[in-house]
Amino acid sequence: MTGPLESIIPLQTTLDQLRAAQEQLDGIPDWMTELHAEHSERLAEIAKLEAAVEEARAQRRGAEGEISNAQEKLKRYQEQINQVSTQREYGALLQEIDTMKRQIESFEEQGLAAMESREQAEKDLEEQRQAFADLDGRYHGELAKWEAEKPALEEKIQRLDGTAETLRERLSPGILSQFNRLFERHGGHPLAAVQLSENNRDQRLWHCGNCNYLVRPQSVVEIRNAGSIVLCDSCKRVLFLPSEE
Ligand SMILES: [Zn+2]
Repeated sequence: MTGPLESIIPLQTTLDQLRAAQEQLDGIPDWMTELHAEHSERLAEIAKLEAAVEEARAQRRGAEGEISNAQEKLKRYQEQINQVSTQREYGALLQEIDTMKRQIESFEEQGLAAMESREQAEKDLEEQRQAFADLDGRYHGELAKWEAEKPALEEKIQRLDGTAETLRERLSPGILSQFNRLFERHGGHPLAAVQLSENNRDQRLWHCGNCNYLVRPQSVVEIRNAGSIVLCDSCKRVLFLPSEE
């Protein structure tokens, strides 16, 4: 086989390897996935407890504010006691005083409950943090190991980039831009292998390996003899013959 396919097939292989290597570099390596998930989970748990502590603190502050307001009012009512002149006014004032005292009591309960839930959250947080310290240490150790592996991977990417560039240079500008368009259009998978089958009359039939559409024998000849770019009539991918074919 000669012709553009001779460069396009290895170019595609190189681009596949390049993408895999890039994904590897940008992601978390397989041997770290589990640890990474556990680490993130624990971090989220800690953040949730920290939020709970904050929330309880705010509730406590709110209750304290309400208590001092109510105490202020209570003080005023108590000062007015000596100034009332009728039995009715006196009764009404006593009722207000009673209401304030009950309010204060209820805010005190709220404040106490908030304090208890803060203490519980702080205790849980402390436990989580202690348990996390070990995991975090292991995680950073693995991260360092992963960082140490990255330069080799970066080198590999550079090497693959160079190979891809060399292969691109072998293509005419027209063919290259056609390939780039198809590469884009098919989400990085612009090639389809031709598959051979026989029907019940022992006739050899060729199909597109991607969409199963029939490939004309003439196309197979063009691909085999001239390494021409032939697109599948249906899915418009570049057809190629697997090496043994
Ligand atoms: Zn097809």
